[in-house]
Amino acid sequence: MAEPFRRLALVGLGLIGSSLARGARAGGLAREIVAVDRDEGVIDRVRALGLADTVTTDLAAGVAGADLVILCVPVGAIGAVAAEIAGALAPGAILSDVGSVKAAVVAAATPHLPEGVSFVPAHPVAGTEHSGPDAGFAALFHGRWCILTPPEGTDPAAVARVRGFWEGLGSVVETMTPAHHDLVLAITSHVPHLIAYNIVGTAADLETVTQSEVIKFSAGGFRDFTRIAASDPTMWRDIFLTNKEAVLEMLGRFNEDLSALARAIRWDDGEALHALFTRTRAIRRGIVAMGQETAEPDFGRRGGGPKAAE
Ligand code: NAP
Repeated sequence: MAEPFRRLALVGLGLIGSSLARGARAGGLAREIVAVDRDEGVIDRVRALGLADTVTTDLAAGVAGADLVILCVPVGAIGAVAAEIAGALAPGAILSDVGSVKAAVVAAATPHLPEGVSFVPAHPVAGTEHSGPDAGFAALFHGRWCILTPPEGTDPAAVARVRGFWEGLGSVVETMTPAHHDLVLAITSHVPHLIAYNIVGTAADLETVTQSEVIKFSAGGFRDFTRIAASDPTMWRDIFLTNKEAVLEMLGRFNEDLSALARAIRWDDGEALHALFTRTRAIRRGIVAMGQETAEPDFGRRGGGPKAAE
């Protein structure tokens, strides 16, 4: 097992930050955990839930003396938070984050990094549609990917320590460049969320099908979109605004393929439809085979359901 951190400071105790607090404690990954959040209400909940050894709303004081600081705030807030805590980071400390977009996070945080602090950005590809400190749980990262995107020249020892931390949480760790991460996540996570937001929005605006009918007959595929479309509005606004180029590029491809599908339906091209649906079914089977989803009927809902990935 990797050597535990002496003091772990978590900034932002929402779903991800509070899951990290729970997981780090369960796995003995830090001797001391400091919970830092600007929101008094969040800090009160963290205290009541007993998630940390120390709690504070003072960001700079909270990170002082920590050897690992993880920013668990929305992507759009990373720059401002990094600026606020920079002067308080201990020499030799490792700064990390959990943001769902990486190039923008690196660009926002890097200018504030003091000498002697290593920055190892991370993105756990795990989550749920819930927010806040009550939503977190220690097993959230079990068997899930965590992608590290250390900028060129980052101290390899710092990268290894962050890798050990995530492995201690049960994650499988992979390293890639921030730009490649953003492209991969645009198609696997960001565009699917945009489609879900859009289809749920369209259904809500329909005049010929009533809202109660949409809710009543939602099991026909729509229900699964509604789970994704219930994701945190602030988090997802920031993701689309900070991963604009990759999302628009993937959306362009998506629109072309959607037009081809519409053409196949219009011209009764059953062969084209069948060929695509056969290919996509194989992808689903591949995801199940990799242990990233359950093979249970109805997504295993009757047995409690699978963990939702971001
Ligand atoms: P969350 O439950 O909404 O928690 C975010 C926390 O950050 C809240 O305590 C919030 O406090 C605080 N915060 C918001 N804006 C802030 C600001 N400007 N300055 C300081 N603190 C601020 O969000 P989450 O789901 O844990 O997401 C946190 C990060 O994890 C995001 O960067 C997201 O991209 C990433 N992530 C999320 C998922 C997921 O599925 N949810 C998965 C992987 C990665 P307030 O109550 O005051 O707003």
